Formats: sequence, structure tokens, C-alpha cells
Amino acid sequence: MSFDSAAFKQQFPLFSHPENAQLVYLDNAATTQRPQCVIDAMSDFYSRYNANTHRSSHRLARAATSMVELVRGQAADFLNARSRDEIIFTRGATEGLNLLAQSLGKTLNPGDQIVLSAAEHHANLVPWQMVAEQYQLQLRFLPDVLGEPQLGQLPHMLSDKTRVVALSAASNALGFRVAVEWVKPLLPEHCLLVVDASQRLAHEELDVQALQCDFLVGSAHKFYGPTGIGLLYGRAESLHGLPPWQGGGEMIANVSLTGSDYALAPHRFEAGTSSLAAIAGLGACLTFLQSQDRQAMATYESHLTRYLHSELTRLTETMPLKLLTTHRNNVGIAALVCRPESSLSVSDMAHWLDEHDIAVRVGHHCAQPLMEGLGLSGSLRISLAAYNDRADVDALIQALEKLPFDADALARPPSAEGEWV
Ligand code: PMP
Repeated sequence: MSFDSAAFKQQFPLFSHPENAQLVYLDNAATTQRPQCVIDAMSDFYSRYNANTHRSSHRLARAATSMVELVRGQAADFLNARSRDEIIFTRGATEGLNLLAQSLGKTLNPGDQIVLSAAEHHANLVPWQMVAEQYQLQLRFLPDVLGEPQLGQLPHMLSDKTRVVALSAASNALGFRVAVEWVKPLLPEHCLLVVDASQRLAHEELDVQALQCDFLVGSAHKFYGPTGIGLLYGRAESLHGLPPWQGGGEMIANVSLTGSDYALAPHRFEAGTSSLAAIAGLGACLTFLQSQDRQAMATYESHLTRYLHSELTRLTETMPLKLLTTHRNNVGIAALVCRPESSLSVSDMAHWLDEHDIAVRVGHHCAQPLMEGLGLSGSLRISLAAYNDRADVDALIQALEKLPFDADALARPPSAEGEWV
């Protein structure tokens, strides 16, 4: 098999919509687009077998329940989990990380340590800050070089108090991969490894057994699936005995007025009604991804990432711009800032690109400590997916080449204060 980006793109109806004829979509790290099969699966759920799951015994409820459990099995295969009971459906990576922080937090003692990096998305920082305050835990941060966490320093940070190491497998702001597969063998036996795989799952196959992680989270909307649904993998041994986070229907074994016993995983962690149509869409998305040659797709994306960086480097030679990223070991993200002599800001640039129907993102990318460490308030982020091609990169470069680096020549966008940097 091989990978045909043009044929891949044809599966995404948004790009053939008349309103989007000129669109160049380069904001994939925020969310990807969805193929028709995902949209169809969601609509099919609502129009053919909508019912609540695991509760009623009628035909529609049975169909909905078996769809959910089938998709759980597909997700287990997708991540190479040993059992579908190791897959918990969440609303997304943020909910998965909140669940972990709250559930694990209850098992920790005051003074226990959690190791993170300063490059984390706020979703893998703020929930830990909240439980650290709640249970008097200590947060420690891996040293970094230009934002990249130095895993080589990890052994020096570990002690018998270190109970959790939680790291992103790739930076959402700068695109570098973090070699999380090296981490588990370094950790003491009682220390759990949490991997935030949000920015990796669209770009390559991940194998939770090879990563040796205890937990891994991701959001379907970042790998061509629906919004409102995410995956939390938990190694059976690590899930065993873990207290639930939210209480309610579905997560119990037995309830009385004096107390409740909880169901086993995964249901223990799935209180209430899940986003069922989104689970149907996720199932279609996993089938769609598994029908691709993922290796060829990854090679295509890495060539395109290299091309993007070589074109942006060329641009920085003549324009007052600085490129913060390199193509090496990068999940398809380039980040630009304006040099001090420029009269423009990255927000001006994003506005200019939007006028040319080129979608990028500007800001701190929910990684404020990383940006502050680099002495920046924000950057312009260009993020690729497998449906992008060289023509998209060329359109971006041509638009940037035409950028009037004279602030007065540019109409500025009306925007809320603080939204633009
Ligand atoms: N972690 C990383 C690395 C991310 O890039 C994101 C989304 N930008 C998240 C977590 C949170 O994902 P979501 O908003 O889908 O929950």
C-alpha cells in the first residue's frame, strides 16, 4: 500500500463545500476535519438506532450497546491494549486527565510528588495543580532546553515520593515529539506513567504495550473523529482498585441509602450517558484510519513537514520573522514569531492569512508556561494533517511573502482584548 493525499482529502466533504473552495486549512493541531464516513456514522446512529446503552433490553438499546462495546474493542486494537476493558470513553483528553488527576489524587499522600514538564498543554498541568492543592502534593518540572523537556534529567528527579510522571508525547505548540517510550523503565515500581498522546494519534500508530505506559489519553477530534469523545487507556493492573471520579448511573454495582459499591473498569469511570453518536463516529474514524497505510501516511507527513520548514526558513532570510521549530522529530507543526524590528504582530499575520482564506492559529496555544519560558507571549502556529499538500504550503508562503511589513498598510481585526498577541 501507499498513501495518496489527494484521494484522502476527497473523503472530507468540508473541502468540497462551495464556501471552502479556496480554503487552506492549517490549524489541524486545534482540530482536524472529519471524513464523510464519520459524519454518516453519527447520522446513522440518530436516524436508525438511537437509544440509551447498557440499560434497556429492547432491540434499539441492544444495538446501541453493542455498537459502543464494538467501538471499545476497536479502540483497544487501535492502541494495542490487551483488553477492551482497558478503554474508557471520555469527553476528550482534558476530561481523561481530570479523571486521572482526581482518581489518582485520592490514592496519594501529602508530600507525594508528581513530575511534569513545562511544555505541557494546560490540560496536563491545571488538573494536577488542582489536586496538588487539594491533597498537599508537590509538582516538579523536568528541566528543558528551548522548551524541550530533558528526559535524561528524569532519574535525578525521582525519589521514593514520586508517584506519577505525566508527559505529553508531543508538544502542541512546537510539535517536537517526546520519547515517552524511554520513561517507564526509569521509574520506581510504585510510580505511574501518564501519557498525553493528543498530538501523536493523528500522525502515527501508538502501541500502549510498547510505550509501557499506565495511562494514555487522546481526543478523537484531533485524529479525524468527532468532538466530544476521547479515549483513556488504563493498564488493567493500574486501573484495578482506582477510585472513581464522577458518581452517578452506570458506574455502580450496588447502591443503597448508606453507600454504594462501584462497577469494575471501564464502567466505573463512565458515569452517566456517554456521547453515543460520537462513539459511533469514532468507530467509523478508527475503521477509516485502519484502512490507511499508516506508515506511508507518516512518511508523507514527515516529507511535508520538512518542506514546510525549508520554505519558512527561506522566508525568514528576507522577512523579519523567526522560526521556532525544526522539521526533525516533529508532528507537523511550525511556529513563527515576528522579530523585534517588525512593526507587525503574529495576530496581524494571522488576520492577513485569514483574508487569504488560510486558517492558522495564533496565541499561547494553551501552553503559557512554555511560551513564557521562551520569553514569548505567543506565536503563529501552522499545523499539518495528511490531507495537506505542497500546494497548501506554497499558498501560505505566497501570502506571507505579500505581507506588508508596514503596520499602517494592514487593516487590523476588531478583536477582544487579550485574544491577539
Ligand atoms: N493535550 C494536548 C497536547 C493538546 O494539544 C490538547 C488540545 N489542544 C489537549 C491536551 C486537550 O484536548 P481537548 O481540548 O480535546 O480535551
